[in-house]
Amino acid sequence: MAERRYSSIFFDADDTILDFRRSATIALGQTLEEYKLPVTEQSLDIYHRINHDVWQAFERKEITAPELRLLRFERFLEAIGEYREPELLSKRYLYLLSQSSHFIEGAKAVLDDLKSTGFRLFLITNGLKEVQRPRFANAGMEQWFDAIVISDEIGVAKPDGRFFDHAFDEAGRPDKTECLVVGDSLQSDIQGGNNYGVDTVWFNPSGKENLSGHRPKFEVSNHRQLKALILERAMTGG
Ligand SMILES: [Mg+2]
Repeated sequence: MAERRYSSIFFDADDTILDFRRSATIALGQTLEEYKLPVTEQSLDIYHRINHDVWQAFERKEITAPELRLLRFERFLEAIGEYREPELLSKRYLYLLSQSSHFIEGAKAVLDDLKSTGFRLFLITNGLKEVQRPRFANAGMEQWFDAIVISDEIGVAKPDGRFFDHAFDEAGRPDKTECLVVGDSLQSDIQGGNNYGVDTVWFNPSGKENLSGHRPKFEVSNHRQLKALILERAMTGG
């Protein structure tokens, strides 16, 4: 089979383009400090673990977005044995997070190169609208992306096929064989892209082992490799 030529690239945002962990750690540290709660490596780790579990439950449709906003702080406060109003913490954290965007090393250069080479780029994120819209505006995402799709705004999240339907509508229904989904999450990005019939690239900078059963077509560990992969295939096509 001839190798595919790609012309439309659907990028996950957090921990693929933007360093979400860094922004979350800064926003959370400030929130905890303001509420006189412990800011230690241990307390931050507890939060990140709970947040990860809660997001997975959300992606499995076990909880709603409003429940997610609250539940992670309820569980966190319970875990560290403190009682504060989880609503206030959540609100403050989300505001601080919305003001924070840090690019992963090499990401901007890839976006610049792909854009100037004529690729159509789309940003597809599972995230909260009040966080992602301001973050993406701060980061200047509009200069690269023809459309930005946020799960919270459309009521369905990756890996649900309806999320991809919506993203493909926004993209003007490109031929799936010319599309590529790039993301760090095996559950949402790789599973979602595979199920939708689109080739996938797993962005795996920390060299994690894939125990998920979801097989990406490609795997890269940094943006330089990602750029080489996409540009090579655009020019030679196979
Ligand atoms: Mg991600």
